[in-house]
Amino acid sequence: MNSTTENGISEILTEMSDMLGSGRFPHALLFETADAHAADIICRYTAAAALCTAGGRRPCGQCINCRKAQSGIHPDIITIEGTGARSLHVDDIRSIRQDAYIAPNEGQRKVYIIKNAGDMSQQSQNALLKVLEEPPEYVVFILTCGSRAELLDTVLSRVQIFTVNTNAVEEGSEDDAEISDGIIEALINRDEYSLLVTCSLMRTRRQAEGTTRRLYAVFSSALMMKYGGTGEKVCADIAAAFGVNKIRRICGVLEKARELIQTNINSTLFSVYLPASLAEAAMQ
Ligand SMILES: [Zn+2]
Repeated sequence: MNSTTENGISEILTEMSDMLGSGRFPHALLFETADAHAADIICRYTAAAALCTAGGRRPCGQCINCRKAQSGIHPDIITIEGTGARSLHVDDIRSIRQDAYIAPNEGQRKVYIIKNAGDMSQQSQNALLKVLEEPPEYVVFILTCGSRAELLDTVLSRVQIFTVNTNAVEEGSEDDAEISDGIIEALINRDEYSLLVTCSLMRTRRQAEGTTRRLYAVFSSALMMKYGGTGEKVCADIAAAFGVNKIRRICGVLEKARELIQTNINSTLFSVYLPASLAEAAMQ
């Protein structure tokens, strides 16, 4: 495996759901990030996705498995966390290994989260390797680390690696914030007309870029708030107004919009495209 993608948090969450939907979900994932908060959110989301029993896109955020995962009380999610170099002892890993062969309690899968996996001693990593090589079918391992250099090559070759780029979203100007706040308000109020009017205020490519970037940051944070993240008041408002799937669809529209700006889409065309696709994602 050992393939690597480098993406922002929201793109990684989308990829987790996509992989699950297409049946390509790996049995072992490694998230490489120095940001403990980002790691925490991604772990919760991915564990919820793995255990969600909804028919559509997972995690649905509503089924009993999702809710238990969100509140950190799902019996099939087992978390251990390193607290310093070599703090994850071989006995910790051996007990995970033994436990992995006992069928799940409630879910279809059993998820082991090993945070700061780089804190495993070499002996611990070798112990983990045994179960990574031939895991029971229902087992998913989610590892996090600050840098993949902390892990043995033999471990890295058994996990799918995702590098989390937490700098993907930067702050925009005040104008951009004003336009994006107007867009958010229109979306929350399901007001298609004021959505169209507010989007028409973006007159230049730079404004379109800044506004889209700001919207993407805010909606990503709102998505993360559904999984225990914190954020500005506006993110909380969005999280209260929309379900997980709608927020994710809106993030998808904004990702596409950012790509279109990169390809130099005409700004008039963009000011029509954006409200139409946002309305479709948020209001249907
Ligand atoms: Zn669910």
